[in-house]
Amino acid sequence: MNEIQIILSPEQAANEHFIKLKIAAEMNVNLCDISHFQIVKKSIDARGRFPLVILKLRVFTGEIPQYKYENEFDYKNVSGKREVIIVGGGPAGLFAALRLIERGLCPIILERGKDIHERKKDIAQINRNNEVNENSNYCFGEGGAGTFSDGKLFSRSKKRGNTQRILEIFHYHGAQDEILYEAHPHIGSDRLPKIVENIRKTITDCGGKVIFNTKVTDFIIKNSKIEGVKTANDDIFRSNAVILATGHSARDIYQIFADKKIDMQPKGFAVGVRVEHPQELIDEIQYNKQKNRYLPAASYNLAAQVEGRGVYSFCMCPGGIIVPSATDEKQIVVNGMSSSLRNSPFANSGIVVEINPEDLPDYQQFGALAGLHFQQDLENLAFINNGGKFQTAPAQRLTDFVKSKLSADLPQCSYLPKIISSPLHFWLPEIIGKRLQEGFLQFDRKIKGFLTNEAVVVGVETRTSSPIRILRDETSLQHIQIQGLYPCGEGAGYSGGITSSAVDGERAAEAVKL
Ligand SMILES: Cc1cc2nc3c(=O)[nH]c(=O)nc-3n(C[C@H](O)[C@H](O)[C@H](O)COP(=O)(O)OP(=O)(O)OC[C@H]3O[C@@H](n4cnc5c(N)ncnc54)[C@H](O)[C@@H]3O)c2cc1C
Repeated sequence: MNEIQIILSPEQAANEHFIKLKIAAEMNVNLCDISHFQIVKKSIDARGRFPLVILKLRVFTGEIPQYKYENEFDYKNVSGKREVIIVGGGPAGLFAALRLIERGLCPIILERGKDIHERKKDIAQINRNNEVNENSNYCFGEGGAGTFSDGKLFSRSKKRGNTQRILEIFHYHGAQDEILYEAHPHIGSDRLPKIVENIRKTITDCGGKVIFNTKVTDFIIKNSKIEGVKTANDDIFRSNAVILATGHSARDIYQIFADKKIDMQPKGFAVGVRVEHPQELIDEIQYNKQKNRYLPAASYNLAAQVEGRGVYSFCMCPGGIIVPSATDEKQIVVNGMSSSLRNSPFANSGIVVEINPEDLPDYQQFGALAGLHFQQDLENLAFINNGGKFQTAPAQRLTDFVKSKLSADLPQCSYLPKIISSPLHFWLPEIIGKRLQEGFLQFDRKIKGFLTNEAVVVGVETRTSSPIRILRDETSLQHIQIQGLYPCGEGAGYSGGITSSAVDGERAAEAVKL
C-alpha cells in the first residue's frame, strides 16, 4: 500500500478512470496493477485562477482491502445492567448512550421531543402554518438541534478530542463514505434523520431505552447527590448517575437550576443575523468565475474585529435554506440547513457578533441568566418587528442595512414562512447592529462583491451557543456541587456544534461512576 497525493482539475477528479491514469503515472506502475484506491482526504484549492482538487490517496497494488475503521466500537448487550439516565437525545446524549453501552452500562434517554417521523410533521407545520410546537421543532426532538441541519461535521476548535471516531460512528450508522475523507465533511438534512434513527436502533437493540415525549422538569437531589429526575408526566426515573445533555435552547433547565441555586456561570456567546446571497454569486467570487458542475457549492469563512469584538460568519450553509428555529411561537430565531447535495440556489450564513458578559450591564440583575434574557429579548424584538405575524422574519437588503436605510422591497429568499421588510439597523441593539455594519464593510474588502443589493439580512440568529456554563469538575466531570450529575454538550457550555457535542457526550459517559 502506498500513500500519494495528486492534484487534478475538478472534472478529472470526478472521473475514476482518470484518477487511476494519474496514479499509474505518478507511481510508475501499469493501470492493471492498481487493484484499489481509497481517498483519504479531498480538498479544493481555489486560490489560483483555476480551482484545483487535491486528493490524498491510499493505493493498493495487491489484493482489495476491506475498509478498516481507525477506532473500534463494541456495542454489548446491556439489558439488566446498571442504568444511567441521560436527559436529552441530541448528539451529546446519543453519543453518551453509545459509549455507556460499550462500558457495559444501560442508558435510559429521556427526550422531551418526538421521534424522527413525528418530528418531521411538526417541522412541516412550522414552515407551512407557522405553528411552533414547544417540544418538537428545529431544536427539540430525536437527534436534537443537529437533525435538520447542514450536518457539518467539523468544528473551529482543533482541541476537541477524537473527531475521527465520531465520523466513523456516523459512518457505521449510515453516513456517506465522503465524510471519512472530505476536508469539510457534511451529511445533509436529507440523510441525518435516518442516521439518527439507526443510532437509536443500536441503543435499543443493545437493551438501552429512548423514551420520547418525556420532558424532565425536576432533579431529585439529596445530600448533594443526584438520585434521579422527575418528568412533566409526573414520572420518576431513579439513578445515581444523570448525564445532562439538554442543549442551549432548554431555557427551563437553566431556570430550574437558578431556582435551586445550582452553580452556573455566564459565558461569552454570539448573536446576529443570517445573510443570504444567490449561490451563483458566491461561486463566482470564490471560484474566480470558474465554477463548473464538478465543483461543490462554494462557501466562505469570514472574520473581522470591530471595537474589540469578533464579527464572524457562523454555520455557513452553501446551497441551503434559512429555517425558523424558534422553540416558542412568539419569538423569531433563524438558522440554516442544506441537503447532502447542497443544491438550492441560495448560500446562507450566520453573521454574528461576539458578546461578553460585561457587554450586558442592563442584564446583571439576572445573574448567570443575563445572556439568556438578552437572547430572549432579541428574539421577542424580532417577533414584534415582523408585525406580530407568526414566523415571518424581519429582513433588509444587505446594502440597505449597511447604509441604515429601510428596504423598499426584498430579493427572493429561501426562508419558507416569508420575510418582511424591517429596519434591522434601527432596532438591533447598537452593540450588534453597528458592529455588523462595520463587519460587512470589512468582509467586502476580503471577498469583493460580498456587499451586494442581491443579498438579504434576516433576523435574528441568537442560538449559536450557550450563554451559560453549568459548572463541572475538570477531572470527574461531575457538577461541582452535585455528585452524580454530569452536565455536558452545548447546553452546559462545553461544546459547539454536532461533532464537539458528540465528543463531549462520550467524555461524560467515560467519566460516569456508579
Ligand atoms: C437549524 C440548525 C442547524 C445546525 N447546523 C449545524 C451544522 O451544520 N453543524 C454543526 O456542527 N452544528 C449545527 N447546529 C448546531 C448543533 O445542532 C448543536 O451544536 C448540537 O446539536 C448540540 O448538541 P447537544 O446534544 O449538546 O444539544 P441538542 O442538539 O440541542 O440536544 C438537546 C436535546 O435535549 C432535549 N431536551 C431539552 N430539554 C429537555 C428536557 N427538559 N427534558 C428532556 N429532553 C430535553 C432536546 O429536545 C434536544 O433533543 C445546527 C443547529 C440548528 C438548530
